[in-house]
Amino acid sequence: MKNEDLFKYQPEVMKLLITSFEKNKLVHAYLLDGNDSNCACDIVFYMAKKLLCKKDNAPCMNCQDCKSIDTNNNMNFLYIKPIDDVIRKEQIDTLIYDFSMTSIDNGPLIYLIRDAEKMNASAQNALLKFLEEPASNHYAFLTTTNYKKLLNTITSRCQLLHLRPIPQDILIEKLIECGIDMDIAYVVSFLTSDLNVAMKYIEEGKITNFLNIALKIVDKDLKNKDPYIEYYRNRMFFLEEKDKTIHRFFLDILVLIYQELLNRLMHTKAKYFSELLDNYANVEFSKNEIIRKLELLNLYQERFNYYVNLDLQYTSLFSKL
Ligand SMILES: [Zn+2]
Repeated sequence: MKNEDLFKYQPEVMKLLITSFEKNKLVHAYLLDGNDSNCACDIVFYMAKKLLCKKDNAPCMNCQDCKSIDTNNNMNFLYIKPIDDVIRKEQIDTLIYDFSMTSIDNGPLIYLIRDAEKMNASAQNALLKFLEEPASNHYAFLTTTNYKKLLNTITSRCQLLHLRPIPQDILIEKLIECGIDMDIAYVVSFLTSDLNVAMKYIEEGKITNFLNIALKIVDKDLKNKDPYIEYYRNRMFFLEEKDKTIHRFFLDILVLIYQELLNRLMHTKAKYFSELLDNYANVEFSKNEIIRKLELLNLYQERFNYYVNLDLQYTSLFSKL
């Protein structure tokens, strides 16, 4: 993320860190909690440059210190991340050893542990000892997507900073940059604000399947045909899905499509589901009818929280749609 974007999307955390830096009041350990690990690490890279760049306008981004942080070649900055999804004790031991061998006269020593919740128990214990006895010029930055997965004894030794979730339009933009279809990017952005989680959902294929079925259901409905047929065709796919969140999300997708149709009718900005909705550009629909459908979908979303018999709920919903 560009520096200006860090200040734009994470204003509270950036302000706190910069103010503390300027007042010479940075603490020895920070824990950055948020679902966008890349953004959290970008903040740490920025702060490492702020601490190590010797130019007046630090971080200048162009000097040897700044560049060597980006390429992970700076003696005063150590970056640890999971290997095969785990951070092991040996990685923490290496960090402690490297720090003991580096002279503090050369400036502050900074380390970043990415996705710290992936430290195994022995790694967390090794780090704990290190956190308990901080040297004056040592700065620890840990990032996590869930600080509750860390030992209490670790979180209590860090200043916990919560990052804002990534804004929806930025997430959509990033997904499209990754080659994801615009409509899929749009619907998945209602399920998560984490780029990695979004990509995982998309790669599993469920979202694309649900979106395709939803589009066919609305298509049938707009042609005055029975939408239940589409449900019945895909009945096993629905019934095999045990996660209620996903079922409520499927109704969300239907809501998004009808809302987009309503936007078109009201001549407000609409850009999603064009492949389907462009076919109905000149057809007259009643706004009240669409609003009735939206209300019905909301009602069934509530019901999905309580009722166990999905088949019955879906059958009932599509008979009323
Ligand atoms: Zn610099």
